[in-house]
Amino acid sequence: MLGARRVLIVEDNALNLELLATVLEGAGFDVVTAPDAHGGLEMARTLNPDVVLMDVQLPEVDGLEATRALRADPATARIPVIAVTAHVKKDDEERCLQAGCVRHVPKPIDTRALPEIVATVIAESEAKRRDARPA
Ligand code: MN
Repeated sequence: MLGARRVLIVEDNALNLELLATVLEGAGFDVVTAPDAHGGLEMARTLNPDVVLMDVQLPEVDGLEATRALRADPATARIPVIAVTAHVKKDDEERCLQAGCVRHVPKPIDTRALPEIVATVIAESEAKRRDARPA
């Protein structure tokens, strides 16, 4: 068993942030949080999370722009991003995927399903990196 996987949650709504953090900590994840994109990008660079849970609607720089910035930076390009959005538009998931998110989770968050989704995204990311390694 490897150590607890680290989840960075970027969310500007304090109540949502607390809920997400509580749920994921309860599921055994090491949780770090940021209230905006600037803080989130900084923490992604310095704290090396295994996954980022990214609210799409953030002040100033939105979550999709922040995701593009993560993808463009070699220091953070490998970190998978799960977009969290209240939008229910049909093209929303497509916009998230185009920005470089691996998955899209709608609000209100299904807190019972979330830990498994996060664990699956981390496992897929780790498997991808293992496969990419030369034999
Ligand atoms: Mn928000």
